[in-house]
Amino acid sequence: MYRLGGSVGQGGRNAHDDVQLVQIHLNKNAHLVTEIGRVPEDGILDERTQRAILAFQRQIVRLSSPDGRVDPHGRTWRMLVGDQGHASTSAFVQLMAENSNFYLYEKIDRTWGTPATIDSIRNMAAALIPAGITVGVGDISFANGGRMPPHGSHRRGLDVDIRPQRKDGARSPVNIHDPNYSHERTKLVVETLQKDPNLHLILFNDQKIEGVRFYEGHHNHLHVRFKE
Ligand SMILES: [Zn+2]
Repeated sequence: MYRLGGSVGQGGRNAHDDVQLVQIHLNKNAHLVTEIGRVPEDGILDERTQRAILAFQRQIVRLSSPDGRVDPHGRTWRMLVGDQGHASTSAFVQLMAENSNFYLYEKIDRTWGTPATIDSIRNMAAALIPAGITVGVGDISFANGGRMPPHGSHRRGLDVDIRPQRKDGARSPVNIHDPNYSHERTKLVVETLQKDPNLHLILFNDQKIEGVRFYEGHHNHLHVRFKE
């Protein structure tokens, strides 16, 4: 176990060895923190290191008002070294839109899921290629799971929001009351998902599609829950 002697960051003691230890751990987590690259591991609290601490607190620790400081017994430090938060979700993988057969409509720090969830999404997208259907994928989970406003769920890498299909194939939102909504194409998406043994349930309000569950607010997206 690594021990931090004193606090690092804004208003911290910022001893050389402590700053260096924090920098090393920031770099180990750099792949999780968007917008911030690697920081120098020189034990000097420069602007980049300070920005990286703030970004880590905002994006990974999910502090609503980050204080920019890493304390020896604080949550930021525990999550930096992986004592907390990582344990249950270390296996999360990120869905990236490297293919043209699906697209992401939310920020990519919100598209992390369990390997099985990500596999299921990729398989669904691939199976829909022959039908000429491109699926828009939204929120899944954060890299470390946890609360994802405005949702109550989306904490465990199992929930995936998907856009209903449009008649014009445009990569934009649509709801079931919109003349551009395609019942036929959306039904195909649902049927493809239902063939997946990893599927748990689908919340969606087009009640002419079999097997989906009505749930308030789900007229403009399908909420797809996969198994644990
Ligand atoms: Zn959802």
